[in-house]
Amino acid sequence: MELWIATGNKGKLEEYKLTLNKIPSLAVFSQADLPSFTPRPEDGTTFLENARIKAKSVKALKSAAYVLGEDAGLEVEGLGNLPGIHSARYAGPHARDSENVAKLLKMMQIRNINPRTAQFKCVTVVLTPDNEEWIFEGVMKGTISTKVSGLMGFGYDPVFIPEGETKTLAELGPGYKIQKSHRAQALSQFLTQLNKKGL
Ligand code: IMP
Repeated sequence: MELWIATGNKGKLEEYKLTLNKIPSLAVFSQADLPSFTPRPEDGTTFLENARIKAKSVKALKSAAYVLGEDAGLEVEGLGNLPGIHSARYAGPHARDSENVAKLLKMMQIRNINPRTAQFKCVTVVLTPDNEEWIFEGVMKGTISTKVSGLMGFGYDPVFIPEGETKTLAELGPGYKIQKSHRAQALSQFLTQLNKKGL
């Protein structure tokens, strides 16, 4: 069975592949495997809308396959749930992860945010070969550290400490994320759904 992941984010794709490559019946591809692919603007106003835009953009070229679109982001309670859907571009349209993290730490310091509670949210839209739409959601709660620690992962991993832990996701590493992350939770729901369908 072919599963296409509608993302250009290498960090996300690596996490998906760590889990999905263990399933022999699945052949996993991403939009990077489509030479003529041009991403559509992510102009939705919710994670769900953006996940659907991503899934549809790949489905237009791969109608017979399962296509998974995902939108995820960090919601910081004291910042009114920002950066949220703007997580990838928090410090500007082409911002690097390090710039987004620096802006986040600065905003939290300027506004003296305390407690530093936050959560990652991931909404996944799967479009099936029968044109069904399946929606899954995962949340990981935690806090934002005051400084960057760790070298693994991507995005805000170096400043996110999951609930019950003392280290950041960038210190805990991919083994931790594929068990517990917002993305892992949504993916696990998708795999359960596939199982129910006997696939
Ligand atoms: P998207 O590719 O539009 O969904 O953007 C998601 C952005 O949210 C990423 O660029 C990261 O900044 C952030 N993000 C989402 N999931 C994670 C994660 O698992 N770890 C760290 N940052 C994440």
